Amino acid sequence: MTAIHWFRRDLRLGDNPALHAAADEGDVVALYVLDPRLWAAAGAPRRAYLARSLAALDAQTGGRLLVRRGDPCDVVPSLAREVGASGVHVAASVEPYGRRRDGALERLLADEDVPLVRTGSPYAVTPGRVRNGSGNPYQVFTPFRRAWHEHGWRSPAPDAVATARRVAFADAGPGELVPDAPVPDGLELPTAGEAAALERWAEVLDDRVARYADERDRPDLDSTSRLSVPLKWGEIHPRTILADLASRRGEGAETFRSQIAWREFHADVLLHHPRAVRESMTPVVPEDAWATGAREQEAFDAWASGRTGYPLVDAGMRQLRHEGWMHNRVRMVVASFLVKDLHVRWQRGADHFMAWLVDGDVPQNQLNWQWVAGTGRDAAPYFRIFNPVTQGTRFDPDGRYVRRWVPELRDVPGRAVHEPWKLPRSAAPDYPERLVDHARERAVSLGAYQSMR
Ligand code: FAD
Repeated sequence: MTAIHWFRRDLRLGDNPALHAAADEGDVVALYVLDPRLWAAAGAPRRAYLARSLAALDAQTGGRLLVRRGDPCDVVPSLAREVGASGVHVAASVEPYGRRRDGALERLLADEDVPLVRTGSPYAVTPGRVRNGSGNPYQVFTPFRRAWHEHGWRSPAPDAVATARRVAFADAGPGELVPDAPVPDGLELPTAGEAAALERWAEVLDDRVARYADERDRPDLDSTSRLSVPLKWGEIHPRTILADLASRRGEGAETFRSQIAWREFHADVLLHHPRAVRESMTPVVPEDAWATGAREQEAFDAWASGRTGYPLVDAGMRQLRHEGWMHNRVRMVVASFLVKDLHVRWQRGADHFMAWLVDGDVPQNQLNWQWVAGTGRDAAPYFRIFNPVTQGTRFDPDGRYVRRWVPELRDVPGRAVHEPWKLPRSAAPDYPERLVDHARERAVSLGAYQSMR
């Protein structure tokens, strides 16, 4: 018998229960479908990373990864017919697009008596499983995290070496070549693939986790794991991470587990509120509070190119362009600045992030944007407005992060770098003037918020 394992957000062999479920049926055709809709939506940095990750997976399967291009609802049933598949195995998708697609595909395959078998998901606890005492989903993070932890998760499935020994990958004939997507100029991508992800995690576990609770908010120290990228692509499963964390004591391990819980919470919220991909869950300011026309465009362009005159904001936006990644604290500051200082809707910022982030992920991106904008269901009131100067002096106290990304400010010493407008113009002649006055725009935002209450 031959089964198909359709790789999607699980570009790994290790700790992959769906792949083992396919192998239980016999030979396995390893399939990746280049869905033109997702490929176009991905943005050049994510396309380039995906191409590298697929090349790594192809090598792991002994060159047997079959890449086909097209609508999965055409490609998968036609391959199933070609190879006489007994079943098509996947890890479940939970985002709205993926769920709709899988539902449609399941019906098409059923017409041919081929089951679509979902085993596991990209999360430790499949979204939808954690419920409160009345059987309803949680709206707020902290009680969700508690219940999620109590619910618990399975131990990891066999690792890559054991899996490679067990699974017989079938040669299903010619497919497309793994796409060669160019890396945009000036962008530095991390190494893709399962081996690199596991190596990264081993280093983090040995070194950074112990300091994580104290240092995770410091962009200057670069002390977070950067595992969001391999987690996005499923080069590592969160269960692997949680199993290793269970053997560590201390606040660092606890805080790290809590961040993984945020990832699971957002997936759960989006499952129950699929429209949150585009719509504010709680509208908090009147429609006429938003900038429009040329004013909006000018503000957006300055923000996107890292030229607002607020050093921490500009450093973050430039890091995004150079690394396809940004530190979490800085993501919050730049997002708050766009929405509350420049009065641009969160959806525009979220689109820009999705175009550039290598870890760009619908549940995490859209719901974090809603959290910062104060439009989500979680406790993030609209009046919580990040001050880009005090955030800078607190979390980048010597200004090292800003100087790294904003060369025009390289000669400004220490924390003075966070308020260049207080220095003589000659100290940073090429750095832009402040686009807006934070104190003033904060008051405007609060006024708009009050008017809706
Ligand atoms: P670490 O600090 O090492 O955390 C470990 C893991 O925990 C991360 O890899 C991630 O999987 C998870 N995690 C940490 N913080 C969060 C969080 N706030 N929400 C959800 N999961 C979290 N993360 C994405 O993966 N994709 C996105 O598209 C994305 N967009 C964001 C947009 C905005 C406006 C904001 C404020 C945050 C966004 N995040 C997103 C969450 C967070 O910024 C990144 O996950 C984190 O910066 C990744 O770096 P790291 O792996 O070093 O994190």
